[in-house]
Order: sequence, then structure tokens, then C-alpha cells
Amino acid sequence: MDFESIASAISPPAHHLCGINLPILRLRFCFGGQAPPGHNPIKPDFVAKIKKIYQKNGIPAVGGMLLIIYEFFALRLKNSYHIMRAMARVIAICNAKGGVGKTTTAVNLSAYLATSGRRVLLVDFDPQANASSALGSDHLRTETSIYHGLLNEVPSEKLIKQTTLFNLHLIPAAPHLAGILVEFVNLPEREHFLRKFLHGLRHQYDYIIIDLPPSLSLLTINGLIAADEVLIPVQAEYYSLEGIGQLLEIIGLIQKNLRHHLRVNGALLTMYDKREHLSREVGKNLRTHFPHNVFETEIPRSVALAEAPSFSKPILLYRPDSPGAIAYRHLAEEIISQEKNLGIEHEAVSSKNFGDFNVI
Ligand code: ATP
Ligand code: MG
Repeated sequence: MDFESIASAISPPAHHLCGINLPILRLRFCFGGQAPPGHNPIKPDFVAKIKKIYQKNGIPAVGGMLLIIYEFFALRLKNSYHIMRAMARVIAICNAKGGVGKTTTAVNLSAYLATSGRRVLLVDFDPQANASSALGSDHLRTETSIYHGLLNEVPSEKLIKQTTLFNLHLIPAAPHLAGILVEFVNLPEREHFLRKFLHGLRHQYDYIIIDLPPSLSLLTINGLIAADEVLIPVQAEYYSLEGIGQLLEIIGLIQKNLRHHLRVNGALLTMYDKREHLSREVGKNLRTHFPHNVFETEIPRSVALAEAPSFSKPILLYRPDSPGAIAYRHLAEEIISQEKNLGIEHEAVSSKNFGDFNVI
């Protein structure tokens, strides 16, 4: 029997009391004592009503006491579960190989998650700042970037930019982010800076997507430690699986040595052309040998996906009917469908502005 059914079967009125009064009420009922000073006194007729409900249900004193203890802890667990549930899923988009579609995936996945009513923060953690420019943030003119956040020089709310999509926020990168590789090298806990920075933001979003650079540098390690999940775009080309073993090894080391539960959410086939024998072979190979999930969605090679960043737009605002757009929409649906297994429930976003486009 779960907490809900016990609470509603035994004490419907008490069930609606706030957390602090519930255990006090129970203890009062058991021992017939007074509420501790400073707490709201409970009216005697209300206690009598509760007593009646208990007696009617035939709960003996010891059983009642056990139920109270159980109920108290169940309530606490339930509260912490609610807090956990309200935290963002942090997904790092990572592959040490360059040009495989990490940024394209980070930008377009974020955009489709945002239009599904999720509050999304895209963190550009690559000094190339491609994700920032793809969403219209000019990295040459950006005065503040994630770099300043890591150094605690600028509060996070000043770093967050509104994008053209209502539910999508961006923390841009800038070329001087590369300086961290040298500046942080002797700092203690240098791998944890991004995690610490994002900690305060996790309650504000449903998803935090981190676009990582093409390397296995300190930046990438920071990104992986900050994340709960890693999504690995794999280009459907020869040599594409090279380096993935090394990435999985690093993920294993992070899991083991830092006791950080980083989940490989999956590999995503990008620039896939089903008419090409090579694409099909790479796909088959990946699905046979990759030791984790491979997303069902395959991102096709699509000119529109390559063009969209030059208009500073995600694909859904540039060519929403193109095959690339449809594929990224499906990917977002696949990611959202995992929420059930992760115990995440989302309240429907009922913003009047939803779907409106604001310019940065
Ligand atoms: P880097 O390692 O340099 O950060 P990346 O892995 O982030 O690169 P992208 O920047 O997303 O890769 O993509 C590399 C190039 O390929 C870009 O010019 C992009 O527009 C193009 N591209 C990405 N995905 C596709 C696709 N599905 N179809 C066609 N072009 C694509
Ligand atoms: Mg990139």
C-alpha cells in the first residue's frame, strides 16, 4: 500500500494538512498531549474527528504508531522526490571527433524540446561558440559568456539570454573560454566548475543541454561531470566509430572514480543517407556493437540543417518541413518519451506567450 492510499483511507482531513502539522497531529492523537509551543494549536473537535476515523478503521495503537512513522518518512521521501523531479535533466552532447553534428544536435534538440513546453537552457561550452551564433548571439560582441559564470564574475541571471523561442534560453560561449584550459590547470576541483555553476540553475529548467567542443580536454570533462546523461552524435561515415571507445572509457572513469552516475543516453546517427551503402553499414555496425542505446531516429544529411545557422535560426524556424527538421522533432520526442522511465512528470506549460517569438 502506498502513502497516498494509506493517508486517504485513514485520515482524509489530516492528509490535507501541511507537512509540519501532519506528524504533530499524529503524535498528539497517539499520546493525547499538547502541541509543542510555537506550533499551530489543533482544535479539539478536529482531533476528535480524526480519532473517530482511526477508531472506525480499527487501527490498534501500535499499528497506528507504526503507520504514523511510516507516513512521516513516506511524506519526507515524497517531498524529496518532488524536489528531485523538479530538477533539470542535464544532457551533454559529446564526441571528441570534430564536425559530427554536436552543435546542430544541441541547437535543434533544444529548440524542439522548448516547443514541446519544456523550459530549456542551452549552454554553449565550446570556445568556437557555434551554438551561440546559431541562435543569433554574436560571440565577438558578447561581453559576458559562460567563462565569466565559471569564474563567478557575473551572476548567472546576467549570462542567460532569451532566444527567438519563448522557452529556450542560452548561455553563450566566447573564444576566451579556451583560456580555462590553462588558467584552471592548477586549481583544485578544476573538473567541477561547470557542475557547480549549473547547480543553482537546475531548478529553473526542465532540460539543460551542454554543447561540448571536439576534444577530450578539461572543458569536455567539466561538461561530462556537470551532466546526468551524455548523447553522442555519430556521423554515418568511415572512421566515425573511432574515438568512441576512448570516450566511453573516460565516462567509465568518471562514473567509477567520482561516483558520478553519468548515463550514456545513446548514440545518434547524424548525416545519414539511407541510399548510401556506407551510411547503412555504419548504422548497422553501430546498432550491433554500441553497448548502449542507439536512438531510433536517424538525422539525415540535409542542406537546410547546414543553412539554418547562417540565418541564426534553429531548423524549426527556418525549414520546419524539411527532413532534418522532422528528424530532430522525432529525436526530441524520443528524449521526452524517456521521461516516464525516469519518473519525470511535467505540468503542461500554460503560458499565454507559448509559441511567441522574442528577439534576443
Ligand atoms: P565541432 O566538432 O567543430 O564542434 P560539431 O560536431 O558541432 O563540430 P556541427 O557544427 O553541428 O558539428 O556540424 C558540422 C557541419 O556539418 C556544419 O557545417 C553543419 O551545418 C553541418 N551539418 C551538421 N549536421 C548536418 C546534417 N544532418 N546535414 C547536413 N549538414 C549538417
Ligand atoms: Mg560544435
